[in-house]
Amino acid sequence: MKHIAIIGSGFGGLAAGIRLRARGFKVTIFEKNERVGGHASQIKTKGYTFDMGPSLITAPDIIRNLFQSAGKRVEDYMELFHLDPYYRIYFHDKTFFDYTGDSERMKAEIAKYSAEDAQNYDRFMRDAKGLYDAVITEGLGSTPFMDIPTFLSFLPKALKLNALYPAYSFVKKYFTNFRTRFTYSFHPLFIGASPFTAPAMYLMIPYLEKVGGVWFSKGGMYAFIQALEKVFLEIGGEIRTNSPVDEIIIEHSRAKAIRVHQEIINVDAVVSNADFNHTNRALINPKHRRVWTDPAVNRLDYSMGAFLMYIGTKKQYPELLHHTLILSERYKELVADIFDNKILPEDFSMYLHVPSRTDSDMAPPGCESMYVLIPVANLASGIQWDEIKQAYADKVLQFLEEDFGMQDLRANIEVLELFTPQDFADTRNNFLGSAWGLVPKLTQTAYWRPHNRYEDIDNVYLVGTSTHPGAGVPGVLLTAETTEKVILADMKP
Ligand SMILES: Cc1cc2nc3c(=O)[nH]c(=O)nc-3n(C[C@H](O)[C@H](O)[C@H](O)COP(=O)(O)OP(=O)(O)OC[C@H]3O[C@@H](n4cnc5c(N)ncnc54)[C@H](O)[C@@H]3O)c2cc1C
Repeated sequence: MKHIAIIGSGFGGLAAGIRLRARGFKVTIFEKNERVGGHASQIKTKGYTFDMGPSLITAPDIIRNLFQSAGKRVEDYMELFHLDPYYRIYFHDKTFFDYTGDSERMKAEIAKYSAEDAQNYDRFMRDAKGLYDAVITEGLGSTPFMDIPTFLSFLPKALKLNALYPAYSFVKKYFTNFRTRFTYSFHPLFIGASPFTAPAMYLMIPYLEKVGGVWFSKGGMYAFIQALEKVFLEIGGEIRTNSPVDEIIIEHSRAKAIRVHQEIINVDAVVSNADFNHTNRALINPKHRRVWTDPAVNRLDYSMGAFLMYIGTKKQYPELLHHTLILSERYKELVADIFDNKILPEDFSMYLHVPSRTDSDMAPPGCESMYVLIPVANLASGIQWDEIKQAYADKVLQFLEEDFGMQDLRANIEVLELFTPQDFADTRNNFLGSAWGLVPKLTQTAYWRPHNRYEDIDNVYLVGTSTHPGAGVPGVLLTAETTEKVILADMKP
């Protein structure tokens, strides 16, 4: 039986592990940290449970398909709740949209501020469906884009759909009110891209949410990770935690082994789920890298960072929904400060995840478990997070209590833990503390994203956020399917 080593146990590593083990390979996942999950890790303290990263579950068909690849059924491993509304978006003037996939209710929300925008909703959704069909229904997302002809075959369709337009410019053609424009253009931020530069292709997400719903797994996102871990172990996979891979050993242009601590483990192939920059610069000797030299990988555009506050409160806040966005007045300028100017501005937009609104087990009775996520510049900014993080957190709490109106917030905090871009770098090897890997912009999408078969070494493969299609949990789960196809074309178990 051929042995495949997977480096990293994020959604990408676990999904690839399940698929490859189910095909008959011997598969071992090596994870540097104590527990599996990567960005989707968990904190449990004083009766509160916090998901550390991803919180929205979308595209249940992609999840179902993954379980089916191992002959399993999702419902035997986790319980999913449908959320409706999907989220609440508070604008700077305290008006809000309750965002849902239900067309009539959504049109009524939009019509409060613009009748014309409400009329254009169906046309927007029809065109977003075109993007969705190309990526999901017609399988673009799970097609390996490793040569120019495959990419060129998609080009006429992409042009017809305006899929290569910047997302925000695409949305502007349908909507005039700033609220509607934000609501249908911001989704690239969920996957680490600027709405002002990401291709409109990613606007398939509003349609994906509409058609597939937004879900939550009982026990939190980590219950999803544990379900994948369980499936993988049940079908005979092996997981080694506290096992950082220090080197992929290459001989005659092929990966022969990996080195973990001082142990050498022979392998037939390696799949890296670790950060792309780290995989190259830390794990593969430069003499084996002709395409991905150090300057080439450093030149790539790495996405923003995230400042996270995990907060447990003795008081509940019903004005927050399970998913809530609270926005600054600035949109384009704020995004530019994060992505281009790389500064920490005075204002912030934030996303709050409050799972205790849906699942009372996530916090002690009468309490609330939440996290605040603020998109910030990555470490290329030079921001010294260890020096400023407490003051920054205090400023956010003051804003939430005094400006936004969360009554007595600070007096009711029982748990407060912070996680900064520096922590992403230190604990998960994310280059520049980038929380989303390579920015999914046009020149880093499809053929231009690092290929599922690593360009420099034939039996090294990539899975996860920085390969095709990448970015966001559904995209990352699809990378596992795409990489599986490439591996099966290359070798038999
Ligand atoms: C705060 C936040 C919120 C998000 N919210 C959402 C959301 O709501 N919905 C959504 O769809 N997406 C969301 N995302 C994106 C989503 O989390 C990611 O796309 C996805 O989790 C990435 O998975 P991955 O498998 O690519 O990598 P990761 O989760 O980063 O896993 C990589 C793993 O590799 C390990 N590793 C690194 N180096 C080594 C080494 N040398 N040896 C062994 N192991 C190593 C790391 O420790 C890590 O466990 C969010 C991301 C963040 C940061």
